[in-house]
Amino acid sequence: IKNLIIFGTRPEAIKMAPLVHEFRKNPDIFKTRVCVTAQHREMLDQVLDFFDISPDYDLDLMKPNQTLHGLTAAIITELEPVLSDFQPDYVYVHGDTTTTMASSIAAFYSGAKICHVEAGLRTFNKHAPFPEEINRSVAGVIADIHCAPTQTSCDNLLRENKPAESIVITGNTVIDALQFSQLKVNSEGFTDDEIEALKERLDLDRRILLVTGHRRENHGEGFISICKALRGLAEKYPDLQIVYPVHLNPKVKGPVYELLGGIENIHLIPPLAYPAFIWLMSRSHIVLTDSGGVQEEAPSLGKPVLVMRETTERPEAVKAGTVLLVGTDADLIVTETTKLLEDDTLYESMGHRHNPYGDGKACERILGHILKDHADEIT
Ligand code: UDP
Repeated sequence: IKNLIIFGTRPEAIKMAPLVHEFRKNPDIFKTRVCVTAQHREMLDQVLDFFDISPDYDLDLMKPNQTLHGLTAAIITELEPVLSDFQPDYVYVHGDTTTTMASSIAAFYSGAKICHVEAGLRTFNKHAPFPEEINRSVAGVIADIHCAPTQTSCDNLLRENKPAESIVITGNTVIDALQFSQLKVNSEGFTDDEIEALKERLDLDRRILLVTGHRRENHGEGFISICKALRGLAEKYPDLQIVYPVHLNPKVKGPVYELLGGIENIHLIPPLAYPAFIWLMSRSHIVLTDSGGVQEEAPSLGKPVLVMRETTERPEAVKAGTVLLVGTDADLIVTETTKLLEDDTLYESMGHRHNPYGDGKACERILGHILKDHADEIT
């Protein structure tokens, strides 16, 4: 069975890397190739390096000031020769990026079967998140196999009249990646310069507030307001260490460095490679983020998360009580963070719940489903 796994950004790479490993454990059955669009470059390469994956095809499409239109066109065009060279039986795309959407279209034109990993997440608002809601919906229309991480995402797909037999509930591969990372980081002889540098820089006896943010819907006003809240928290709690690995997008990096640079207890640092980020999250007290993946990882590490967005396609963690949606209003961010910093009972109750996103066996289930799908096709 010929597999082509396509991804382009850091979060896709983290969540697809364990699937690459899973298929490659079975070389007698699967011939698996990896194609990266490199919609992100540096942050993607950090992940490939940690998971020890060298892409078979690298489209290297990241350009300064790239529009979504230009990127979409380039992905579809550049994938055509890759698809005709390898002629995959199955193409795997992940989540909700422009790479996901455009690769699905390209794979469909070339006649491959499309397997959408992390399928069925919805806000039901086509403008938020932009462009992710439409990217994942388009991939959902095209896909032949939908790997839904939870029952909720499966229900969303059923409501869109996707055939039940095309959906498989797998859990989220982010947990598979997290388990791989923890095993590797804790293995004998593993060293990591970034982790060592963090140990030097931070006082691990003082509380750490970990912050990440990147979403287009927060560009502009949203980030200005988030920065105001972080300034407020830094002043109110001089003992708190706010650590913010800043996303490389200039629309994020620009305002964040301008508004938060030079504050003693705010540590603005470049994006961390995945193992150092997970290490830092496991030592943090609270996580403040607009990221999808971080919300899914944090419950496994027992960390409460405040999500700086107005809507979420991940209601499971909100329901489970590990995540609170706080939006981007500066006062609300300060109020809710203060509650968690001061109320230990609330803190404990948010941090220690089960993770609704999986058990680390998502890739095994995806592989099992492909075998079954292929057998059905042959017989
Ligand atoms: N992450 C990382 N380094 C960082 C910040 C985040 O490796 O400095 C990881 C994090 O563990 C998670 C993923 O990147 O798995 C989340 O990516 P991002 O927030 O960019 O995208 P989203 O999940 O919102 O699509």
